[in-house]
Amino acid sequence: MFKKILIANRGEIAVRIHRAAREMGIATVAVHSEADADALHVKMANESVCIGPAAADKSYLNIPAIMAAAEVTNAEAIHPGYGFLSENAKFANIIKELGFSFVGPAPEHIDMMGDKVQALEFAKKAGVPTIPGSDGTLENAEQAIKVAERIGCPVLIKAAGGGGGRGMKVVQDIAEVSTAFDLATNEAQAAFSDGRVYVEKYLEKPRHVEVQVLCDSHGTIAVLGERDCSLQRRHQKLVEETPCPILTEEERRTIGDYARKLCEKLGYLGAGTLEFLYEDGRFYFIEMNTRLQVEHPITEMVTGIDLVREQIRVAAGEKLDITENIQPRGHAIECRITAEDSEKFIPSPGTITEYFPPGGLGVRVDGSIYSGYTVSPHYDPMIAKLIVHGADRKETLARLKRALEEFLVEGIQTTLPLHRRIAATRAFTEGKYDIHSLERFVDGEAM
Ligand code: ADP
Repeated sequence: MFKKILIANRGEIAVRIHRAAREMGIATVAVHSEADADALHVKMANESVCIGPAAADKSYLNIPAIMAAAEVTNAEAIHPGYGFLSENAKFANIIKELGFSFVGPAPEHIDMMGDKVQALEFAKKAGVPTIPGSDGTLENAEQAIKVAERIGCPVLIKAAGGGGGRGMKVVQDIAEVSTAFDLATNEAQAAFSDGRVYVEKYLEKPRHVEVQVLCDSHGTIAVLGERDCSLQRRHQKLVEETPCPILTEEERRTIGDYARKLCEKLGYLGAGTLEFLYEDGRFYFIEMNTRLQVEHPITEMVTGIDLVREQIRVAAGEKLDITENIQPRGHAIECRITAEDSEKFIPSPGTITEYFPPGGLGVRVDGSIYSGYTVSPHYDPMIAKLIVHGADRKETLARLKRALEEFLVEGIQTTLPLHRRIAATRAFTEGKYDIHSLERFVDGEAM
């Protein structure tokens, strides 16, 4: 096992990785920007190295600076967390070439799944259903129109290199396809330096259901159940739960089998998430994330498995001791709490004057803040995740409401009030919502 790992990230996920490493007796190295000298992950780690100024491209995305930090501290492995360099195949390659271990999958798998069109083609070949749409990327607007005529509007134009919910255009009418194609191509080029787009049918009321997998280098593929992440705003997840409240046992097996099939065909290593949309009893694969997800703790709560620990173990070549499909115990829900106002989502950086996280049975807070900490305007506004676990959905919901009532963050605005309102809605209480419900709720409609 490694003696020391470097955590190439910041915020709550850097703290989360540090915690797993410490329990394994592994020393940690934090890297940080000049703006993050007082960050919790820096205070907690055994050692820390400043790798550059506040701007992420000069620090958290600065591969030479991170590799130099690994060299000088004698770290053996590097954990990328999520975001930043976590899905950068070049980074994973450099780590390996310089003789370090990368806590993540093979660079070729990062590369392939990072290209959505390649990922969809791979899924189709593996016999996993995808959303009806174009065969690969489109060369011009005429091709897009042909596909739209074949599958019928509404359609969605998506960027092959897209991510984070960006680079998507819904088209309601054939007459709009041409303009939308040009817009989407230009936007994708500007945002991802990759103008390739493809078209698929726009599903009107799907749920987002994803499967967590964990694979070792000895052939074990552990399928750790699904998560429902349908409560989204601008295609970004806000609240997640497991198990998905509307799946039958048979459907759960079906989606798990799809995930297993894909990982088997890939020869995948490490933790990964296969994302599907679910509508009218059918699953459609949309993409695979080759890293740890923000919402991984809800899976940990119902399976009792520390996913970061297992990621580190498989990266060191160890064998997983999970072989069967895991039966989840109880129910878990996560709320992503950001430093933004609860209505218009305007960022609210500043100093936290008072902080009191909730506690008690089945309550977990994965955060990066403390009393007196100043939330920086330079990075993602997520400051904490509230995760609750209960024997069943009803108990978990009651616990969530109670924990949200207790949660106190003063000095900055947060999305806690929004989460309290969501937890009280009928749709959430009954588990009946789709990927558009929250967007409408934020716009003032009932949910
Ligand atoms: P990203 O990588 O940017 O997160 P995804 O392909 O994972 O993009 O899609 C993100 C979200 O966008 C999904 O969870 C879903 O809410 C919505 N979405 C994606 N494809 C479709 C579709 N064909 N129809 C309706 N909604 C979609």
